[in-house]
Amino acid sequence: MRYFVKVFGCQMNHSDAERISAFLNKYKIKQAASADEADLVIFVTCGVRQSAEDRVYGLINNIQKKYPDKKIILTGCLAHRKDVQRRLKNKVNLYFPISDFQTFENWIIENCLKIENLKLKIPAQDNCRSGIDYLSIKPKYSGIYSAYVPVMTGCNNFCAYCVVPYARGREYSRPAEDILREVKSLVKKGYKEIMLLGQNVNSYLDFLPSDEGRCPKDRGVLRVQQTEATPPPAPSSPEEGRISGVDFPKLLQLIEKIPGKFWLIFLTSHPKDMSDELIETIAKSKKICEYISLPAQAGDNEIIRKMNRKYTIEHYKDLIKKIRTAYGRQEPGSCQLARAGFLPTISTDIIVGFPGETKKQFENTENLLKEMKFDMAYIAQYSPRPETTAWKLKDNVSKKEKARREKVLTEILKKTALANNKKYINEIVEVLVDKYIDPSTKKYLAHTRTQKRIIFYSKKKSLIGQFAKVKIVKAKAFGLEGEII
Ligand code: SAH
Ligand code: SF4
Repeated sequence: MRYFVKVFGCQMNHSDAERISAFLNKYKIKQAASADEADLVIFVTCGVRQSAEDRVYGLINNIQKKYPDKKIILTGCLAHRKDVQRRLKNKVNLYFPISDFQTFENWIIENCLKIENLKLKIPAQDNCRSGIDYLSIKPKYSGIYSAYVPVMTGCNNFCAYCVVPYARGREYSRPAEDILREVKSLVKKGYKEIMLLGQNVNSYLDFLPSDEGRCPKDRGVLRVQQTEATPPPAPSSPEEGRISGVDFPKLLQLIEKIPGKFWLIFLTSHPKDMSDELIETIAKSKKICEYISLPAQAGDNEIIRKMNRKYTIEHYKDLIKKIRTAYGRQEPGSCQLARAGFLPTISTDIIVGFPGETKKQFENTENLLKEMKFDMAYIAQYSPRPETTAWKLKDNVSKKEKARREKVLTEILKKTALANNKKYINEIVEVLVDKYIDPSTKKYLAHTRTQKRIIFYSKKKSLIGQFAKVKIVKAKAFGLEGEII
């Protein structure tokens, strides 16, 4: 019996796939190199945009036609949707929400395992929580020097366009001690880059064992599985319902203390929850990379309000100013990049063509990109999603106009990203080497702490997964070229 996991969407889905792999490997079900070679194909789906959803339908239909006997399992953002299940009727053998490994396990035992006593010992159930805490399953890391470590999952924010709160349920923060243990073990194994993941890492909240006597169910933010389409009212202030404990800045400070050289990155931050303490923590840290993912989604206050994002564009701009100032203010030598006069990389996400977005309102987003001079922006055309509150609004910006708006923003981004990258020329920066892109010309692909892709030449072998020093000689909008020192 062999399996193949097909992943769509974000890093969190990729991290979930690593847990699925670990789970199946423990059952002695082996990984296949492709879906063609597998008996069991697992789809970790993304429901953020219709295009991602359509790719899932296309692939499942193809597999079904070609190999009607293959078993297909569907999890991720589409698994709970009844309309998806109707559309894929008789094509999928099992649907399970990613947090429900119990259902997954039961199905595997019944359908794939002939030998009953192969039954895997699933992680001891924390009797204060319901179900299996799937994030406590030790993943089969797909990277050998860079690893994803989820710190929280789910979302309580209910942005009007977004499926995540419906697909992943309420926010759930992993126990801090589990996260610290995982990072320590990765660093011990030689991992050089740790990526902390969560839909909104800023709202991370947990206790350490020293908060003795506390049952995990008293932890600040516990997952409650969403069963209905009606969202509960979002908290009126970020602080509401919180109790003191290990919050995100504290978690970062604890990880920072883990001995060893490694880079620390986290995604994604919500502008409404980014505190001054978090900004101070990241600017002072030696391990946290100078890379902030701070989605604005739009540059117009009325659109941001309609999106239910709960901040103003003034607040957003102020945050970016604070982040840049905090880096600039550090002691000379404390931050390699700030010393060289660079700004930390700031990446944003933007949706164009949200229902009712006028040309004038879109111009405010243009202005935001011009003014903030982002290094990166993930620009998406609005896609109506079932279950969300915006689903009921008229999707009245035409496909053509959405494409135009996307292009306008991409052009601005190319200019600001290039101007930022030019500052790197003649500087020597540390990089983490990813792969040999062309062994015949000795070209390596690497990335900087600021997550800029960089190509350099070296005759040295086996640099992959190692740190190296590179002098930058050329800058493009989305990449740098350099020479190894
Ligand atoms: N938690 C993150 C984003 C998670 S979803 C945040 O708060 O910003 C990843 C990105 O997908 C979003 O930032 C948004 O830009 C995009 N996205 C989500 N729903 C979308 C939709 N219905 N149409 C188009 N893009 C969407
Ligand atoms: Fe979606 Fe908003 Fe939650 Fe991000 S914060 S996952 S965009 S609902």
